[in-house]
Amino acid sequence: MSDPTFSRPSAVLIAAARYRRHTYGNNHPLDIPRVSLLIDIIRSYNALESHEYIESRRALASELEWFHTPEYVAAMQRCEVMEKVTDVYRQRHNIGNLENPYFKDFFATPATATGGSIQAAEQVLAGRVAFSPAGGMHHAMPDRAQGFCFFNDAALAVIRLRRDGLKVLYVDLDAHHGDGVEHAFRNDSSAFTFSMHMDTSMAYPFSGGNIEDVGGRENAFNLPLPRSTNDDEYWYAFSRVWPLVLNAVNPDAVVLQAGTDAIMPDPLGKFCLSTQTFLRAVGTIYDEAPRHDNGTPRLLVIGGGGYHPLVLARCWTGVWGILSQRQLPAELPPSAQALLSKIRWGAEDPDDYDDEEQIEHHGTLYRELLASRLDRPQKGPIRPDITARVERLLQTHPRFRNIFGDGDFFTSNF
Ligand SMILES: [Zn+2]
Repeated sequence: MSDPTFSRPSAVLIAAARYRRHTYGNNHPLDIPRVSLLIDIIRSYNALESHEYIESRRALASELEWFHTPEYVAAMQRCEVMEKVTDVYRQRHNIGNLENPYFKDFFATPATATGGSIQAAEQVLAGRVAFSPAGGMHHAMPDRAQGFCFFNDAALAVIRLRRDGLKVLYVDLDAHHGDGVEHAFRNDSSAFTFSMHMDTSMAYPFSGGNIEDVGGRENAFNLPLPRSTNDDEYWYAFSRVWPLVLNAVNPDAVVLQAGTDAIMPDPLGKFCLSTQTFLRAVGTIYDEAPRHDNGTPRLLVIGGGGYHPLVLARCWTGVWGILSQRQLPAELPPSAQALLSKIRWGAEDPDDYDDEEQIEHHGTLYRELLASRLDRPQKGPIRPDITARVERLLQTHPRFRNIFGDGDFFTSNF
């Protein structure tokens, strides 16, 4: 049994060549290399065999309409044909503006990312663990784009699993509240969402995602965290809540949205979280997710936010290492270093740096998979505010009633 495919779980990565030429337009936070860079880095590690890669197909309109309105799907298609967004569509569907701009292949690109996440769900149904890095567009609503998200592939992937009767736990580690997915399952008592995110009093989407928001079927768990949440705080919160959510839901499958904007150098994030701790959470979910009969986790990982190209590509390479159970050397292969060093990205231009520590940080971003200065775990005492948030969720969420009782003290808060 020297064939390495027998010693690894059956993992598959689904993406598309079209992302290599995709652009959101100048100055948009998503106008950075993402999936294409990720694939290049993984390939530089020689960590993607042909049987582990599937080219994404485009989602059918009928699939998009599992969640989106036919009017919205038709409007997206029509805009692509017209090569512009009309005022009527702009107002009706929140597209063609600065937040959700028009770009070439306006329908095809998000429809392909969505097709990839639906395919990934089908791969999970077939006994594999799957990664759809172009997905994770968790803000999109049935009839409109939101927060750079056009089609909600995250909700659609969960729906695909639900159509086969699986009870699904959706976990959202993106820095922003997974509002569109929570909305999608407000009336579904067999789909659950668990989102850890920046408190919406300070971050997009600026409402919802509070501890008290438990979804339409008591099926949403929300843990908003304050500015500057560090590694010790994040790990305390995750490791306390995750096992209880998993136990309370007892899902057949887990869908994990792994947006990297929760990691410290991200320009839109406000946490002090390292790549190591983020990946530790991903690894724990991998270890504890429900299993296929063959022992492979019934786990689908999708992408999400992440606006620092180097952090994103390195972190998701680490995610692929976990899913495919490979030990990737910490020092990036020379070809990967060469790729990363070619990226000129405004917020990380070494010409702007004047002290040695900054230059050293910049260098390690290119050289090492994890160990740049800003990726080192940020230690610190756990603030009482964070302990209080975690305990309030555990004491008040109706799904935790069997564990913690009715909680006389906390019911007085309602
Ligand atoms: Zn985000």
